[in-house]
Amino acid sequence: MLNRRKFITLTAASAYLTTLADKVLAQTTEPLKSTLPVVISTWDFGVAANQAAWGVLKNGGRALDAVEAGARIPEADMKNHSVGRAGYPDRDGHVTLDACIMDEQGNCGSVAAMENIAHPISVARMVMEKTPHVMLAGDGATQFAVEHGFTKETLLTPESEKAWKEWLKTAKYAPVINSENKDYKLGNKYNHDTIGMLALDSKGNISGACTTSGMAWKLHGRVGDSPIIGAGLYVDNEVGGATSTGVGEEVIRNVGSFLVVELMRQGHSPQQACEEAVKRIIKKKPETAKQIQVGFLAINKKGEYGAFAIQEGFSYAVCNAEKQDTLIKGESFYK
Ligand code: ASP
Repeated sequence: MLNRRKFITLTAASAYLTTLADKVLAQTTEPLKSTLPVVISTWDFGVAANQAAWGVLKNGGRALDAVEAGARIPEADMKNHSVGRAGYPDRDGHVTLDACIMDEQGNCGSVAAMENIAHPISVARMVMEKTPHVMLAGDGATQFAVEHGFTKETLLTPESEKAWKEWLKTAKYAPVINSENKDYKLGNKYNHDTIGMLALDSKGNISGACTTSGMAWKLHGRVGDSPIIGAGLYVDNEVGGATSTGVGEEVIRNVGSFLVVELMRQGHSPQQACEEAVKRIIKKKPETAKQIQVGFLAINKKGEYGAFAIQEGFSYAVCNAEKQDTLIKGESFYK
């Protein structure tokens, strides 16, 4: 492998070599890597979620339990308008939630467009563990949740209702890049979107979770990428895991998370795989891509991780034995 210091010495000698070295270093730079166990998740609110997951992982717990515990944090957060309770509603004022979960054995469960239940991630896990199915949607999902002890509640809060009524004045559906996160600053809280979470436990097993209230003001019945295995989340314990956030339609079109995992299987680092998946989205619909945000986050079996987004403003959180509250500014195609 090429040695970075050697290159720096060489590059001082000539401009030509500098260019050459840059090219080579771009291909050989070591990926970000963590010790095991580790948990990573999307956006600033991933920091708090990771800490809940860490409570499981640090005691030798299972990655699956960790991602469920972590995802429940933003789901319960009344200040978070893009996940779980207090999520912004659809065009008709219904809060409909999407979530999925996947473990190291390829088991998975999902709920889509589910109303009145605050913790879709736990219902998704129950679908995985207690039914022969992968996905339950709409009223059937709510009914299943109630039958399994979940309490029905009103998810629309006065604050979300106020925002919806404000939106109704123009009723124009146009996804906003980074959603509520117009004044993005690394370190902002409650700023955006779906939580996608990936954990690698001390046994080296990977699991993932993904949960959201979807795009605010969507058509009633719209389902995004987040509850779709392969789109919003994918785990293959031989290779790694990936998850996504942003405009779900573009992620579904490209089966984004599955694509990232397959690229890692072919030898890409998590960072390279996320970049390639983002470029695939841009290539397919370049004009659409200029207007929207999509971000991918990935981890492989070695604990290497990476992320990439179409637009600036994507952040992700990393938590391991060294540091529990790392927040990283994700790289993006457009600067
Ligand atoms: N991916 C989510 C959806 O399309 C929303 C988001 O992450 O912004 O429903």
